Amino acid sequence: MLTVACTLLTLAAGVYVLTPLFREARGNIEVELLAETGLDRLLARKAVVYANLKDLEFEYRMGRLSDGDFRRLEAGYKAEAAAILRELDQLGVAGDLDESIERDIAARKSRLYPSVAKETSRCPSCGAEVTVGKKFCADCGQRL
Ligand SMILES: [Zn+2]
Repeated sequence: MLTVACTLLTLAAGVYVLTPLFREARGNIEVELLAETGLDRLLARKAVVYANLKDLEFEYRMGRLSDGDFRRLEAGYKAEAAAILRELDQLGVAGDLDESIERDIAARKSRLYPSVAKETSRCPSCGAEVTVGKKFCADCGQRL
C-alpha cells in the first residue's frame, strides 16, 4: 500500500514538474513559426530592442539606474537597433515596408500552397486563358 502511494506521489510530482516544460516547448514552436522569415525575425528583434530602450529610459527616470549604467546599456541597444535597421535596409525594406511584407507573404503562400500557382495555357479557338487539364474552354466551349 505504501509502495502504491509513493508511486502515485512520484507520478504526480513528475507531471507537475514536466508540464510547464512541454508548455514552454509548444510556445517556442509558435514563436519559431511566427519568426519564419528573415524579415519577421528582424522586425521582431527591432520591436524587442525598441521596447528595451523604452524600459531602460523608464528605469533611468525612476532613478533605478546610474548615469553610467544607463549610458552603457543605451549605447548597446542603440547599436543593436542600428544594426537591425541596416539589415532591413539590405532587404530593401526601408523604402517600402508594406511592399516587402506583401512580397514576403506571397512567397510564403506559394511555399505553403504550391497548387495555387496552376499551370495555364491558351484556348486555341478564342485565346482565353484555360487551366491545363480542363476538357473544354470556359469562354467559348471549344474542346481542348
Ligand atoms: Zn475558347
